[in-house]
Amino acid sequence: MKQQTIHVFKFGGSSLRDAAAIRNVANILRNHKEKRLAIIVSAMGKTTNALETVVEAHAAGTGQAFPILNDIKAQHYRIIDELFDKENEVYSAVNDTFVEIEWVLEEDPHENYDYMYDQIVSVGELVSSRIVAAYLNKVGLPTQWLDARDIIVTDNIFREGWVQWEETLERSARIARPMMDKRGFILTQGFIGSTSENFTTTLGREGSDYTAAIFSYCLDAEDMTIWKDVPGVLTADPRLFENVVKLDRLSYKEAIEMTYYGAKVIHPKTIKPLQNKSIPLFVKSFIDPAGEGTLISDEVEDNYPPMVAVEQDQCLLSISTRDFSFVAEHHISHIFNLVADLRIQVNMMQNSAISFSLIINDIDDKADRLAELLKDKFKVMLDRGLELITVRHYQHDVLENLRRGKIVLLEEKIKDTTVQMAVKDVPVMRRKLVPGKN
Ligand code: ADP
Ligand code: ASP
Ligand code: MG
Repeated sequence: MKQQTIHVFKFGGSSLRDAAAIRNVANILRNHKEKRLAIIVSAMGKTTNALETVVEAHAAGTGQAFPILNDIKAQHYRIIDELFDKENEVYSAVNDTFVEIEWVLEEDPHENYDYMYDQIVSVGELVSSRIVAAYLNKVGLPTQWLDARDIIVTDNIFREGWVQWEETLERSARIARPMMDKRGFILTQGFIGSTSENFTTTLGREGSDYTAAIFSYCLDAEDMTIWKDVPGVLTADPRLFENVVKLDRLSYKEAIEMTYYGAKVIHPKTIKPLQNKSIPLFVKSFIDPAGEGTLISDEVEDNYPPMVAVEQDQCLLSISTRDFSFVAEHHISHIFNLVADLRIQVNMMQNSAISFSLIINDIDDKADRLAELLKDKFKVMLDRGLELITVRHYQHDVLENLRRGKIVLLEEKIKDTTVQMAVKDVPVMRRKLVPGKN
């Protein structure tokens, strides 16, 4: 008998934000009933943000952790009440999952914040996957629930676990593949994994797209589809720009460049595993599932329109020597060792004889920690709240438009294709109320 090919679908938070959205997902899946399908789901709506506030409240001892958690639980139970009868076993599955957070909150805050974060925040995906799997089973779409932590093994870095590919491949072949041979779908969580000692880890915010790519790679999927609230990959974020157009086709290279620099439609780590096995990626709309979407693949086009990615929360670190000595190789190596240790993403850099400038993602307190570590050797200045604008296939009028109302702190042109600039808004001057008076 010919082995049927495997397909991977991923549904993110916005496609699962309420009961109607979950019904819509089930309707989409009904059209793919005959497929061998692995489904990856994120937490519902903005649950991860809310769970982050539980972690913060618990760490700070504000007394708000339980009340916030209770709101999150109530939101989930409202959705479950709409979708299920009272006797459905999803109630106890969801309840047991939330209890895991309550156990953490009953203890004093763990000394390792990132560890505690992962134990709490991962529950968003565990709960949503229970609900969606139970609903699919209820509406006649047989679905097996799989714990992604049994498959995806990461290192011990909490909040940003790095996949241990050998173990993950082995577990996928041993556990996930035989499940795929049974009837129906398998459904699992995005974003989460586990250390080899079975502690839960997360893969970094918005990491569910990446999970889908990990499964696609490990299961040798025929293709992968991520279902979004946009018609496909657009020339820029429609929340920030007007006149954006959908790209029908995109090469892996274009996709990786745009997502690395902030095109939030796909998590940047998603592309590599797919490219490595030439697995095509479709980005489609869960609002218009019949739409063509965007196909990301090996195919190279040479005629792209200008595409813009904007990354917020950027920090410019201006590092200079204290005694006017040159920034020499050993300095650069020292700076980059620290950057690597702190797992900081560097988006742009420039150097002169006595100074070195870096644009980095200003996440958590990483910029401060780096500045602190550099302080004894260098003079360090931080300029925060910047935007990094990356334009591929630029045209001059597009660049002019983007510079309007902005101060450009650092700009770089890479070949003929890309311009990057770190900008901040021109400050609005206060006007004099009475002319001539100070
Ligand atoms: P998910 O529901 O999977 O979490 P996201 O909300 O993270 O989905 O991603 C979809 C959003 O990405 C869109 O609503 C859009 O605002 C944003 N986005 C940013 N850049 C682009 C782009 N180039 N094309 C399409 N959408 C983009
Ligand atoms: N729920 C996680 C987040 O919001 C992962 C994801 O949605 O991709 O970051
Ligand atoms: Mg998301």
